[in-house]
Amino acid sequence: MSLLINGMGVSPGISIGPVYISHRGLPAVVHRQLADHQVEKEVKRFQTAVQAAKKYLQQTKHSLPDVPSDVAILIDSHILMLADAMLGQAPIDTIRQQQCNAEWAIQQQQKCLTASFKKIKDDYLRARSSDVEHVVALVLRFLDDKNYGEKNTRRDLQSYIIVADDLTPADTIVFQNQKIGGFVTELGGPTSHTAILARSLRIPAVVAAHNIRALIRDDERIIIDGNSGVVIVNADQQLIRAYKKKQKREVVRRQQLALLRNKKAMTQDGVEIHLLANIDLTEDLRMLKRSGATGVGLYRTEFFYLNRDNKVDENEQVRTYRKVLRVMDGMPVTIRTLDLGAEKEFDPNYERPLAPNPALGLRAIRRSLHEPENFLSQLRAILRASAYGSVRILLPMLTSIQELEQTLELLDIAKQQLRQQKKRYAKRIPVGGMIEVPAAALQAHQFAQRLDFLSLGTNDLIQYTLAIDRIDDEVNYLYDPLHPGVLQLIQLVIQAGAKHNKPVAMCGEMAGDMRYIPLLLGLGLREFSAHPATLPEVKEMVLSCHTERLKKKCQHIMNADAKNIPMLVAALHQSQQQR
Ligand code: PEP
Ligand code: MG
Repeated sequence: MSLLINGMGVSPGISIGPVYISHRGLPAVVHRQLADHQVEKEVKRFQTAVQAAKKYLQQTKHSLPDVPSDVAILIDSHILMLADAMLGQAPIDTIRQQQCNAEWAIQQQQKCLTASFKKIKDDYLRARSSDVEHVVALVLRFLDDKNYGEKNTRRDLQSYIIVADDLTPADTIVFQNQKIGGFVTELGGPTSHTAILARSLRIPAVVAAHNIRALIRDDERIIIDGNSGVVIVNADQQLIRAYKKKQKREVVRRQQLALLRNKKAMTQDGVEIHLLANIDLTEDLRMLKRSGATGVGLYRTEFFYLNRDNKVDENEQVRTYRKVLRVMDGMPVTIRTLDLGAEKEFDPNYERPLAPNPALGLRAIRRSLHEPENFLSQLRAILRASAYGSVRILLPMLTSIQELEQTLELLDIAKQQLRQQKKRYAKRIPVGGMIEVPAAALQAHQFAQRLDFLSLGTNDLIQYTLAIDRIDDEVNYLYDPLHPGVLQLIQLVIQAGAKHNKPVAMCGEMAGDMRYIPLLLGLGLREFSAHPATLPEVKEMVLSCHTERLKKKCQHIMNADAKNIPMLVAALHQSQQQR
């Protein structure tokens, strides 16, 4: 009998394929006292596990044809660690001296190394301790199951559907290199960065499928529907045929939408709407041109920092930004300064005492201002790139005018430094701010006066307005873009932009969600920045809308009773769809 599991569809598309369950937990380590005659056997068991871990890392590296160079460097450093006496020999000494089991010995060594790493002054070296953790975890897995490597490398994960408790953005990228068919996680929400990445990578994905790992087995064939969030286990032939048909219909629909690419996004009453693209990875560039975007509205630069320390070389940053500018060929590219922190802590080596509530902690512009040298390096890189195309700077998570003023001062310093170095940059670079915090929305007039443009980051604006952690799946059901409090803030920002004659864009996921496009047009939004994959559909919707008529209907919605708003917005969307 088929089993249907409901999760949340976060990246569209249907995938039918075998399951690969990704285990993230570690085997528990207990202490065992060995008899004299068992000691050398245990040493041998340890050495075999280390050799197997080394071989596994080498094979993993070679099995990924498009492995990004930074990931390859990371794997190499782990191979070197295994060859080093601190991990290869010290546990053997412990096994012999204390007559204990290999797991215990390597765990003791890890604790010792982590403690000494913590004392190192140099941030970069200190941060290496999490590499030790990764390597030790791998050896522990081989001690637990000597076939661990075979089980993973034997598999060609192509077309597999990865099922995990949760995936980090880094995991998602590594799996994508293996051309997986999709992924399902037990945790997560629609605006978590992993979900956003899945959309970037065009991997069908379902999150919040609670306890799914207890209900399926490796290699079992499942169907996932990234639109509806449904996962079907043990589907019969009839169901599989129905989903294959649906898959085909999606391909035809995509071809139809592609025909709109060169059409202007003009509403029925002749208002031109700007449709811009959000990009996270260079993978998005392939889709960018095909999407018909007239610019990049949000370039999330932090994704470039994956698996690295915080000090990415300035020249390398310039080269990466230039790549995007080249693709856009004169169209504006909005480069957002780093939005690191909260769940976007990609650098596995970055160590900061864990904040009690990272979403309210040292994140985004706060983090940049806290690390002025890194910030200056990024600002110089953006300025230098501006000599090669149309660049706009976007500042994430501004909360106060002081933060903006400090940033503008640093921008002046960066310009001064470049002039001293005789490096070129564009004379005029618009600077915009993301409105993602209620305090900033309430001060939209002040921000609009000082900035060249505003961009509504609704993913965070909703999280901070409703006090709902966007990645906490227990409260995800409360995440509501149509909450009257959220809608009022959005309207206020759009009105402030209009008053000061400053463009207002929206670059949160709401801007690419068809259900909300008519409402947002009616509220006066004229710039939408969404993932390139969704832009053709946004355009189709825009083409069917009449802003003047929507304006009246939206006024009615804004005055409606909170409980009626979802129904009214759905009706508005449906009436547009039927046109
Ligand atoms: C947002 O918060 O809406 C946004 C676009 O930024 P991010 O999703 O990267 O936090
Ligand atoms: Mg944000």
